[in-house]
Amino acid sequence: MNDLPRRLLLSLRGKLMLLNGLVVAALIALSWQAWGALQVQQWAQSRHVELAEALHLSKQASVLHDALRADVLSSLLVGQVPGLDAFDARQRVRIDSQAYHESIAALAAINLPSEIGTLIKRAAVITQAYAGMAQELVQVALSNRAEAMASVAAFEQQFKQTNDVLDSLGNAMGELLRQDRRLSTQEAEASRAGLLWMCALTIAATSLFVMTITLAIRKRLRRLGDVAQAIADGDLNLRTGAQGGDELGDLGRAIDKMASGLNQMIDSMREDAVRASFGKHLADALDMTDREEQVARVAARAMREIAAEVPMELLVADSSQASLSRACEHPASGAPGCSVGSPYDCVAVRRGNVVSFDHSEALNACTHLRDRPCGPVAAVCVPVTFMGRAIGVLHAASAIDAPLQAEQMQQLGTLGTQIGMRIGTVRAFAKSQVEASTDGLTGLSNRRTLEQQMRLLATSDREFAVVMCDLDHFKMLNDGQGHAAGDAALRVFSDVLRSSLRESDLVGRWGGEEFTFVLVNSHARAAHEMIDRLRARLAQALKVAKSAPFTSSFGIADSSLSRQVDQLVRLADVALYQAKAQGRDRACIADGTVLQEMLDMPQAEEALTPTVGVSHDPIGRAAAPQDSVANRA
Ligand code: GH3
Ligand code: MG
Ligand code: MG
Repeated sequence: MNDLPRRLLLSLRGKLMLLNGLVVAALIALSWQAWGALQVQQWAQSRHVELAEALHLSKQASVLHDALRADVLSSLLVGQVPGLDAFDARQRVRIDSQAYHESIAALAAINLPSEIGTLIKRAAVITQAYAGMAQELVQVALSNRAEAMASVAAFEQQFKQTNDVLDSLGNAMGELLRQDRRLSTQEAEASRAGLLWMCALTIAATSLFVMTITLAIRKRLRRLGDVAQAIADGDLNLRTGAQGGDELGDLGRAIDKMASGLNQMIDSMREDAVRASFGKHLADALDMTDREEQVARVAARAMREIAAEVPMELLVADSSQASLSRACEHPASGAPGCSVGSPYDCVAVRRGNVVSFDHSEALNACTHLRDRPCGPVAAVCVPVTFMGRAIGVLHAASAIDAPLQAEQMQQLGTLGTQIGMRIGTVRAFAKSQVEASTDGLTGLSNRRTLEQQMRLLATSDREFAVVMCDLDHFKMLNDGQGHAAGDAALRVFSDVLRSSLRESDLVGRWGGEEFTFVLVNSHARAAHEMIDRLRARLAQALKVAKSAPFTSSFGIADSSLSRQVDQLVRLADVALYQAKAQGRDRACIADGTVLQEMLDMPQAEEALTPTVGVSHDPIGRAAAPQDSVANRA
């Protein structure tokens, strides 16, 4: 509260108010000075008028003084000179005498300096005596001229004495008037000079003060303007350094605050851009991956980009989500070595959020962080998920005094999210691929996949043998033991096939209870021997599985007959037909002459044209795949 006047004085408003007050004070002082000068002039003027009137009255008294003498002398001539009347003489002396008295009385009434006042008083006494003598002498002259003539000398004496007094009064008055005129002139000059000085002083002081304040304000305003312009031109680190508690100080601080705000905004936009570019580059890199190992390699490279020297690792669960294993680690700093075993043992996965720990030995730190060989660490754990299902965790552990920055943690979060999406996509795609290419019951390739593999093989220069199999009297087994037993029998047969073939061989379920396999780098004879072993294995496997017994017939055709898959399939089918015809549970090898016969017969050739999903019997009759061998039987 006590600070208010000081603050007001320091503020721009206070300074302008002070300036205003100063101008008003200067105007008041000037008016006062002018008023004083006018008063002096007016007073001098009225005194001058009074003095002039006094002089006039003194002169008037001198004139009446002479007139009274003339009245006395003219009364002495009444009766001597024609035209002069006694009555007129009495009247004139009475009137002149009265005017004479009035003049002196008026003169005495004027306030004049004391020496003049003394003279006037003396003049009043003498003039009264003189006027009385004049009136008396006129009376005597009109009644006794001789007696009057005797008194004329005394009257003349009185006249002269009075005249002297009036003259000295007139002179004194004249002198006083001159003195007064000089004095008035001096006073007027002094007033004028005072007024001029006051004007000059006021103008100078006001101008100086206005100039000082204006210069100070302009200097600060120019500085603020320069800084504001520089900030507008992009130099956001410049500050006004504004001081003082006035409005300009407030404006400077507001400009500084605005520059700091802009700086922060640009920094955050820059961080967003960096994060967006990291996310985009990561997305581009992951887009080029289609296997989990490739995803892991991209993750390792991204780890180095996030932090060059912080140990990191990506722990990924297998499809069963039972256990976590390390998919990759930081290429330069290695893995922090988290001991978490399964996804749901990880707190970050359970919470579904990024979790960070400032100190691994803190009470609320994750137990998997404790007692690391490298000592206490600060850690960040990012859950890796896909469509809400845990895939793994991304883990980084840094020194206690150098934890990951917020931006690095955000990048780690981005990495976790994108890795989760990619691994999830890769797994889903691989699963759909398997489902599309395999048979659901047996797990073998389906017919379409096997045909593609066979065509690919046929384009190579490798030899191969195609074997068609058809379970014998399978309908009876189904009818007799039930469909489930039939399915079990199909699975046993496919297991026997799988275990009897090499990695490089091809096998698939052709349809129903028919299977096809291809022995690569082999021929019909070797295939026949292999089938003998296979049949023995089947019998053994059925025994072990305590499954209903059944046999299978086989038809063999090798690439020495044709390298066209459809022709070979057809030939193997014919051979299978022969095996069925010969009593089943055996293998027959296709004869080259059959091929020639088929090629010679246009219908047969037509029948050899590839038709996916449809098989044909040896005489060219189209039938459903499951039915082909049965029809022949
Ligand atoms: P042949 O010895 O002449 O081949 O006689 P077959 O009974 O095996 O032949 P057929 O074509 O008459 O019958 C095949 C049977 O296979 C008919 C069908 O019920 C059965 N089958 C086909 N696919 C499946 C399957 O996926 N599961 C089961 N349980 N049976 C199947
Ligand atoms: Mg059959
Ligand atoms: Mg069949």
